[in-house]
Amino acid sequence: MTRLTVIAGPTAVGKGTVVRYLLEHNPEILLSVSVTTRQPRVGEIDGVHYFFVSNEQFDQMITNNELLEYAVVHQSNRYGTPRKPVEEALKADKQIILEIDIQGARQVKDSMPEANLIFIAPPSLEELKRRLIGRGTESAEEIAIRLDTAEVEMASQSLFDHVVINEEVAQCAAEVLDLMKTS
Ligand code: 5GP
Repeated sequence: MTRLTVIAGPTAVGKGTVVRYLLEHNPEILLSVSVTTRQPRVGEIDGVHYFFVSNEQFDQMITNNELLEYAVVHQSNRYGTPRKPVEEALKADKQIILEIDIQGARQVKDSMPEANLIFIAPPSLEELKRRLIGRGTESAEEIAIRLDTAEVEMASQSLFDHVVINEEVAQCAAEVLDLMKTS
């Protein structure tokens, strides 16, 4: 059984919600907390949602080889996965999920081919647009950038070991869990 699961998919597909649901119902599964250079949003807690770091700190982590993967996402901020917690989880025989972008997923697959890559897809691109506009957290300009990224991301599905369509949260989480148990 693969213990390292990478979950990716286009912006606003609802992968964060699926992952939260999965963790709530399966507390033995760990979630990797990423580092990012973006500013915290209201309600986000350092060390819980992300480790919020400066550009200099991020550079230092790269130099020290502390990141398993990293990427610039949505043409703006940098995000990366701290290597140590992942290695520790795997050593302790625990399941760990990385919820990262597609560039990061590709890097993880290169360095850890045993990783199980799961792509969360929307029922359609139209539905994705509806979800992105509906959540109302991005400006019109950000929405346009994210939709551009989403189209590129949708084209990367073949890189993944599995594709799960997010019609509904519980169903999608159950399918992901099943893949985590059987892959
Ligand atoms: P947000 O800024 O909305 O929290 O996240 C934006 C994007 O960054 C999401 O698509 C998320 O998957 C991606 N992301 C979050 N953490 C990481 C990470 O550690 N590495 C990479 N490559 N992408 C990440």
